[in-house]
Amino acid sequence: MGILFKNGTVVTASDMIQADVLVEGEKIVTIGQNIPSRGHEVVNVRGKYLMPGGIDVHTHLDLPFGGTYSNDDFDVGHKAAAFGGTTMHIDFVIQPKGGSLHDGLKTWRKKAAPAQIDYGFHLAVTDLRDDVMEEIPSLLAEGVTSLKLFMAYKNVFQVDDKTLFRAMRVAAANGMIVMVHAENGDVEEQLRLQLLAEGKTDPVWHYSSRPPEIEGEATNRAVVMAGMTGCSLYVVHMTCVPAIEALRRGRALGYPVMGETCVQYFQMDKDKHLGAPGFQGAKYVCSPPIRTAADRTILWQAVKDGTLQVVSTDHCDFWYEGGKGPWEQWSKDHNGGDWVEFEAQDPSYRRPGKELGKGNFAKIPNGLPGIEDRLIVMWHLGVNGGKISPSRFVELNCTNPAKIFGCYPRKGAITVGADADIVVWDPKKSHTISAKTHHMRCDYNLYEGMKVKGVPVMVYQRGVKLVDGEDWLGKNGQGQFVARAPHAPVL
Ligand SMILES: [Zn+2]
Repeated sequence: MGILFKNGTVVTASDMIQADVLVEGEKIVTIGQNIPSRGHEVVNVRGKYLMPGGIDVHTHLDLPFGGTYSNDDFDVGHKAAAFGGTTMHIDFVIQPKGGSLHDGLKTWRKKAAPAQIDYGFHLAVTDLRDDVMEEIPSLLAEGVTSLKLFMAYKNVFQVDDKTLFRAMRVAAANGMIVMVHAENGDVEEQLRLQLLAEGKTDPVWHYSSRPPEIEGEATNRAVVMAGMTGCSLYVVHMTCVPAIEALRRGRALGYPVMGETCVQYFQMDKDKHLGAPGFQGAKYVCSPPIRTAADRTILWQAVKDGTLQVVSTDHCDFWYEGGKGPWEQWSKDHNGGDWVEFEAQDPSYRRPGKELGKGNFAKIPNGLPGIEDRLIVMWHLGVNGGKISPSRFVELNCTNPAKIFGCYPRKGAITVGADADIVVWDPKKSHTISAKTHHMRCDYNLYEGMKVKGVPVMVYQRGVKLVDGEDWLGKNGQGQFVARAPHAPVL
């Protein structure tokens, strides 16, 4: 007996077709018209769209960062993702300083033990010693085929050009892809120190410390190195005119370079949000910063003309008003211990959040909530807004992420033989986004009060229903690690 989705419209990256979809076990086994329903559980999806589960290739769950940890973990964050129609994400393992890449993997595997949706790992390399360079190819056997390097966050994650260039050569030789956070961290440091010395400490100055020029410059540097090494490059969270122009130049030259933006960069505005009264702007502090109307215009052009291939979230949420618990006691007692266990012992505890940066914008933890909102906001702004088609929506959010990161067509497609990760989407249903009703562990929502039309009403992962309207049916441990293949296509 299988599950038969009848009377719906299947949306793929290329087509919209009226078809029935039969799922048996974890896989899609037949797509056709008038599939006999005998012996199957029939799900009538008349008037609904069937789309592949969303894949968010840029998330930071339970990340130690900025003097605290991001709130959502591989339990709560997974639920929130699935309620928003996302059934797989790829999270960034951070190599510990002085440690190996496998040390980082070990830590993140432990974090992922309660997984409810499928996940993969990128490896963020922070300390590229010779022994670590030699360790890189061994990641392939672990199903990890992407490296991330930071050109920003001086004295935290930043690597120098020599390191980036060498890593690209090793990655290219092994069919791996290099992802970069492209901002010039040396210049950022100078600008930040100057602003703080001038007493410019409010959240809005975060923007001035990270202007578009430093993103464009770093993007160009990485693009040129990709051209020289032949390494596939994926520039994360692109936000602005100079960065998009650098990527366009590289693609026009035939370099193997790709890019993503994140949903918040289509909506948030530097003056309105980052410049909100009081400390409110801290809610919108992420890097690169949210930009201006001219940048939003070029981002839409870039997703339309194919300069950008993917929309992700960079989900990394912090409380706006955290610090409600014995944080100092925790750090004394645990100092690198298991955070989730600590919270289980004391449910009143809240990790410190954005308030760490009151009086100093540079101390505001960088990152925003978004894993749950990506698809509904992109549908609303993009499809309802007449900017992209439903097929392009699927391509940007599901299919291209799977292709670029080596798990297509198992993931990111409604096709025979694919995992039955299926979102039943109701294009007529309205919803008002609010922190009061979202499932992320965060006390604010970027899109508070936004009325959207088009929402997921049922979500299946590998043939198992996770979400039915407002009901959660998933279980801890149901999410599986997705081993990814090298030599993925450059799109
Ligand atoms: Zn990130």
